[in-house]
Amino acid sequence: MSSILIVEDEVSLTSVLRRGFEAEGLRVDVAHDGQEGLRLALTDVYDAIILDVMLPGLDGHRVCRTVRAAGLWTPILMLTARDSEYDEAEGLDTGADDYLTKPFSYLVLQARLRALLRRGVATRPAVVEAGDLVLEPGTKRCTRAGAEIPLTAKEFDLLAVLARRPGVAVSKGALLEEVWDLPADSDPNVVEVHVSALRRKLQGPFGDSAQPLLHTARGIGYRLVPQPAATP
Ligand code: CA
Repeated sequence: MSSILIVEDEVSLTSVLRRGFEAEGLRVDVAHDGQEGLRLALTDVYDAIILDVMLPGLDGHRVCRTVRAAGLWTPILMLTARDSEYDEAEGLDTGADDYLTKPFSYLVLQARLRALLRRGVATRPAVVEAGDLVLEPGTKRCTRAGAEIPLTAKEFDLLAVLARRPGVAVSKGALLEEVWDLPADSDPNVVEVHVSALRRKLQGPFGDSAQPLLHTARGIGYRLVPQPAATP
């Protein structure tokens, strides 16, 4: 039997959802505020979590980020009343797997939850390590020598493609395809702009003395040359 956690402060909505999902044979726990939701998410075992963004106490983004930071990869479906691209990006950046804007139909929620339950946690991408650089695809968190480096989603994806092939020159065309889903012969300017931003950010906290990580492979593209992680 699959079990799910619903974290939502609208009591009438949670009781409708609970009845619906229990009728489908799921075990359902409900929390009506962020703290209680976080406590249950960290202490009980669920196959999926439905998490509202607007919650008393801790908001849904904070709950999601804390669950991920604890190393838990339970699939999370975020609910929000606000309908904007920014919120969706923020939700996915905090480590949510899917996102549904209120008001939604029960059938749509049911279908999305089923998809998450089918997918499970098995496909959670592994942490990428290249020298002193650590990338966590679930939360899009990046650290260099232990220092957190805030990256946009695209900067993160670009760096992750290079970090998965340390020392290998990756063409701008391949980066356009992998990171931007564009044809390889598209204008490479977007890649160049993101690489310069990444260079600044990766170097930033370490000053000029640190070895640069991103090297230009003339006529090809870029390669990441990892610097050894300091031994503790
Ligand atoms: Ca709410």
